[in-house]
Formats: sequence, C-alpha cells, structure tokens
Amino acid sequence: MTNISAAPFKNKVTHARRPTKQEAEEAVRTLIAWAGDDPDREGLKETPRRVVEAFQEYFRGYGEDPIAMLQQPTFEEIGGYDDLVMLRDIRVESHCEHHIAPFIGVAHVAYLPNGKVAGLSKLARVVEAYAKRLQTQETLSAQIADAIQEALSPRGVAVMIEAEHQCMTMRGVHQPGVAAVTTRFLGAFATDSALRDRFLSLANASRRGR
Ligand SMILES: [Zn+2]
Repeated sequence: MTNISAAPFKNKVTHARRPTKQEAEEAVRTLIAWAGDDPDREGLKETPRRVVEAFQEYFRGYGEDPIAMLQQPTFEEIGGYDDLVMLRDIRVESHCEHHIAPFIGVAHVAYLPNGKVAGLSKLARVVEAYAKRLQTQETLSAQIADAIQEALSPRGVAVMIEAEHQCMTMRGVHQPGVAAVTTRFLGAFATDSALRDRFLSLANASRRGR
C-alpha cells in the first residue's frame, strides 16, 4: 500500500480552444485508418460519431465542479455527531491519462466531520466527477480527498481506491486480475494510526463481502 502525494490539483480545467465535434470525429477517422482499417467501410461509417459521443460520457467530469457539489447543501445540525462518516464500494469507472484505457474498481471514502457534513450521495458524486476525467489513479485519490478537505474542512479525510487497469490487462505486461491500490490520508487519518487502521479494516471488510 502506498501513500502518494500529488501536486496541488486544479479544480477548474482550462484549455486553449475546444475542437468542434466534427474535428473530433475526423481525429477518430484518422486513428481508425492508422490502425489499418478503412473508416469509410459500412461497419465503421458511424463509428467516429459514436466514439465522440462516448467521449462526452466518459469525460463529462470536466463540466462539473466537485467542490461546489459538496457544498450544496451542507448540514450543520448533526446532533454533535463527530465520528467517522464513510461510504464504501463506490463504483469507479475512469480512464488513465497515459493510455486513455479504462480502469475500473471501487473507492472507499471517509471523513471526520468538524460540525459540517455533506449529503452521503455527494461523496459518490465527487468520486464520479473526478473519475470522468483523464488522470492517474494516484491523482484521482488525491483529488477526491483534497476536494472533501476544501469543501467541508473536516478533521481528516481517507480515500482508498482499488482498480483494475485495462492498460495492464490488454496491453503491456498483460496481467489480468491485478488490482492497483492507492490511498490518500489527510489530517487525523495521516497522524493517527489507530484511526487509519479502523478505516482500512472497514474497507477490507467490504472486500471480504464481495
Ligand atoms: Zn494506463
């Protein structure tokens, strides 16, 4: 298990000029031709359009603001509840920035509230908003933790992601069934090993149940 610290993440993504849908489709045609097939043959005619539309789904996270998402609304009447809030087995479907190949798995996310909590479903939506972008699993773990830290100022945040990478199973080293595990601990989770162990045993309990 590794604890990887990523560079400070940018919440907003900017780029010079967004290509048109037509330009994007043309790029897919080029890739098909480069692979060795004929983009004009019957079965491939509509493929560039489908691929571009699939990209809109795979990468819809660029249009979302995870921090705003966490803050709308937050709840402060939590009856003095100050123990761990955890969401386990959040489905992760993302694409690695190195190969644009899918990596699929689960995230476990926990935080220790500091008088303020977000709706539980928001944690899953934050995972989703970052997963639907290009990045590495290490960066994804850090982005989720940092967003929760920034939006809720909790006493600590823990994120663990376990995922299988198709860039490892379908190409390169061809290793199916290998899960990459990344963690990110902030605040109390970074300094208190008993708390961190509690998080990890809750996360591992979920794996035994699968
Ligand atoms: Zn990759």
